[in-house]
Amino acid sequence: MPQLSEGARRIYGEAAFEVLAKAQKLEREGKKILHFEIGEPDMETPDNIAQAGIRAIKDKKTHYVPSVGLLELRKAVQSEVETTRGYRPELEQIVITPGLKPGIFFSMLAVVNPGDEIIYQDPGYPTYGSVASFLGGKRVMIPLLEENEFRMNPDDVKSKITKKTKLIIVNSPQNPTGSVMTKSELDEISEIAEEHDIFIISDEIYSKMTYDAKHYSPTCRDEAKERTILLDGFSKYYAMTGWRLGYMVVPQYLSDRLQDFLVSAVSCTADFTQWAGVEALTGNQSFISEMMERFREKRDKIVKGLNSLPGFSCLTPKGAFYAFPNISETGMNSKECADHLLYNAGVAALPGTAFGPYGEGYLRFSYATTLDNIATAIERIKVSFS
Ligand code: PMP
Repeated sequence: MPQLSEGARRIYGEAAFEVLAKAQKLEREGKKILHFEIGEPDMETPDNIAQAGIRAIKDKKTHYVPSVGLLELRKAVQSEVETTRGYRPELEQIVITPGLKPGIFFSMLAVVNPGDEIIYQDPGYPTYGSVASFLGGKRVMIPLLEENEFRMNPDDVKSKITKKTKLIIVNSPQNPTGSVMTKSELDEISEIAEEHDIFIISDEIYSKMTYDAKHYSPTCRDEAKERTILLDGFSKYYAMTGWRLGYMVVPQYLSDRLQDFLVSAVSCTADFTQWAGVEALTGNQSFISEMMERFREKRDKIVKGLNSLPGFSCLTPKGAFYAFPNISETGMNSKECADHLLYNAGVAALPGTAFGPYGEGYLRFSYATTLDNIATAIERIKVSFS
């Protein structure tokens, strides 16, 4: 048999999809499973946005468009970044992508050489480690500790900097812990990057999903002009996961290169999807605050419920829609506990280790489900331990 590339042997997938497959198998056998494993809002795309997409298709917005994105959407992003981050990027800094994920992939492809060290949070979103590994980079994980409310500590980052450090990846609000870093922590990380001439990728996909905490972008310091890369998108807070739409704000010297990556890989992001994005950014925003009110209620319910379970303890997350309870007192490891919940309580949650070795001792619950499902799940888990 011919040999696959080394990179193909190094890239890896996401455990969320493995747990989903197990849960679906049980469902086919007639079991009723409550789903807490999927990282997407349980709401439909707001109608004004969906209608804008439909209108665009009817208006024949179904052709190739510039690979960096439609001017109309890039202008909307320009104003959006000015309002939400406090600086107005040049249009040439803005690149539209089919979802945020290609932004991670292409920007890492553009800055990482084999042997370069890449610093990122652990537990953290699996894509960073997977792409780092694919590129032959060295993965340098910063443990997120419960006693620091799962926030990345700048001193830990500093202690891991070497001559080979090329990139720091920051994600706040964070998946899987729901932590939100402070302005001073993020500024400190930007300063470290500046001092050592290192890139920063800031994954801000949950930027509008905070409770009693303010989102801050580490790209504010250099306004994404020198070394910081802002990634955000429409998937989560506009409930548009399947539309595939995201954006990047990058230094100009990088946007040219990214354009070539996009041309080579996807040509462009879908025309009509981008028109839906223009409506999302410029239309009525009340959907987001309504969604976050509902998420707050769900968060409070699940955190209270998890804390009532024997062997579980759970901090109150400040962002996203994930709860990350400590389950070490159950006497099981993360995977055993996730399997126990799936097979004995019919509750699908992810082991913390799906997000890296420092996730051991924890589970991730995505509480994008109904209040009733949360109550039933807690009850079922309680019974499974009795
Ligand atoms: N970054 C993080 C931290 C995420 O949690 C997710 C979705 N699970 C993504 C990126 C992917 O976003 P998109 O679907 O827009 O590619």
